[in-house]
Amino acid sequence: LAGVPLVISGLTKSYPGGLTAVKDLSFRVEHGQVLGLLGPNGAGKTTTLRMLMGLITPSEGEIRVFGHRISSGAPVLSRIGSFVEGSGFLPHLSGHANLRLYWAATGRPAEQAHFDEALEIAGLGDAVHRRVRTYSQGMRQRLAIAQAMLGLPDLLVLDEPTNGLDPPQIHQMREVLRRYAAAGRTVLVSSHLLAEVEQTCSHVVVMHKGTLVAAGPVEEIATGSGEASFRVDQP
Ligand code: ATP
Repeated sequence: LAGVPLVISGLTKSYPGGLTAVKDLSFRVEHGQVLGLLGPNGAGKTTTLRMLMGLITPSEGEIRVFGHRISSGAPVLSRIGSFVEGSGFLPHLSGHANLRLYWAATGRPAEQAHFDEALEIAGLGDAVHRRVRTYSQGMRQRLAIAQAMLGLPDLLVLDEPTNGLDPPQIHQMREVLRRYAAAGRTVLVSSHLLAEVEQTCSHVVVMHKGTLVAAGPVEEIATGSGEASFRVDQP
């Protein structure tokens, strides 16, 4: 299991007050896959991704990234690039300066080519030198995604990255994720839209009320055929 980008086993998260947001969740993501975590609002996607990023602690179960168990502050976290909504930028600095600062703070390998690639992904053109306070929601979103990709992490985790983007930007995002995986890296991306997952992902895990209800290659889930494992006997 040492080289597997992500293995989640029996993962459960109960919040104080009794709500169990994620229940006994198990799945794995193989090298080069773009896995879509699909489910309606409240399905437990964000809770799962927050545990993966070490931001909150599971109640039960474990998460292994490249064979290393995740716990808050684990060194393996430096191999994960993540985007969670509402990333803070310094509004009085340019997009370029914000990326530079973030890059310095992560301690990821400082290769200029990686930085340039992230800038290209952001697709902000000359606006990258304008202050972030002048950016639209879509521009901030793309800057945040570029930030997650800085240093080309082995595992890229994006929580609803197309929220707030317009159709051409969504198309561009799809291309970016495909290219990312084609280069042998691995992507986990959440969404509440089946159509989006169908177009972007190679594999899908469907969550409902905190549990896994279906998992497999995206064509099999979309058509209900093949060997995808369905567990629709959930309440
Ligand atoms: P969304 O698309 O709305 O983010 P989601 O699938 O990501 O949905 P979660 O945000 O993981 O779902 O939420 C799952 C459940 O856990 C929801 O019922 C939510 O209200 C609850 N929840 C999330 N965070 C907390 C918290 N800090 N304390 C208590 N309950 C929480």
